Amino acid sequence: MTTVAERRLRPMVPLRLRDVVKTYGQGDNAVRALDGVSLDVPPATFVAVMGPSGSGKSTLMHCAAGLDVPTSGTITLADQVLTDMTDDALTALRRERVAFVFQSFNLLPTLDVIQNVALPATLAGRRVERRRVLHAIERVGLGDRARHLPAQLSGGQQQRVAIARAMVAEADVLFADEPTGALDSVSAHRILRLLRAAVDETGQTIMMTTHDPIAAAHADAVLFLVDGRLADRLDRPTAAQVAEYVAAQAGQRMTEAG
Ligand code: ADP
Repeated sequence: MTTVAERRLRPMVPLRLRDVVKTYGQGDNAVRALDGVSLDVPPATFVAVMGPSGSGKSTLMHCAAGLDVPTSGTITLADQVLTDMTDDALTALRRERVAFVFQSFNLLPTLDVIQNVALPATLAGRRVERRRVLHAIERVGLGDRARHLPAQLSGGQQQRVAIARAMVAEADVLFADEPTGALDSVSAHRILRLLRAAVDETGQTIMMTTHDPIAAAHADAVLFLVDGRLADRLDRPTAAQVAEYVAAQAGQRMTEAG
């Protein structure tokens, strides 16, 4: 058993993709969801991924997180090349080094908030101090719900449990799929500040999909996917710059379709 204080150093390569292609289906029905994506996410970096519906954001997240296997190309996650790994090693990597804040919340229905927050660390065989678990639950604003079951929480509150869990797990790489999509603006702002702090204070690396320019503006870089390709990136943009870019792209698509 290791304790948090004994934890290893952060990875040199939290996330790297090289020429990643993902094709669904066969022959005439084949869809190229990712069409040669290469990217490097340096340590302690927060990237946002934006793009129209169907542009490949979910596929990118699933492949990058080792939940889905690309058709070709290589992915390095927490210094390990996913394509070289056995299923067991991949499961261990996901459990120990990766955290997920996904819309399907991945909370266990029979465990209360405290137990759900402590779960990944417990599964990985690490001792977690109750004080840290309660602190994370406080930070996401659920201090008065610590003994509730997931079914007794709203969607947004469940999302916040997933975020508290990611904080306690101290994962190297955190994948967040629309983490603020179900939240009111006050809760959304709180979550984004927590994600930002995880990067700045604990050196986590985050990849987040979002449709919201305000959320994207919390990231160090915003990547834009179009038809499974990385079309553009903005570094440290303001929300206004992101909104302007998204509007211009939508306008261009309408002209092309028109
Ligand atoms: P986004 O998250 O940006 O909406 P997705 O990654 O979900 O995009 O989808 C990218 C493309 O791949 C879309 O054309 C979608 O229809 C297709 N796709 C995604 N998942 C599957 C699947 N399991 N089977 C077939 N096609 C899929």
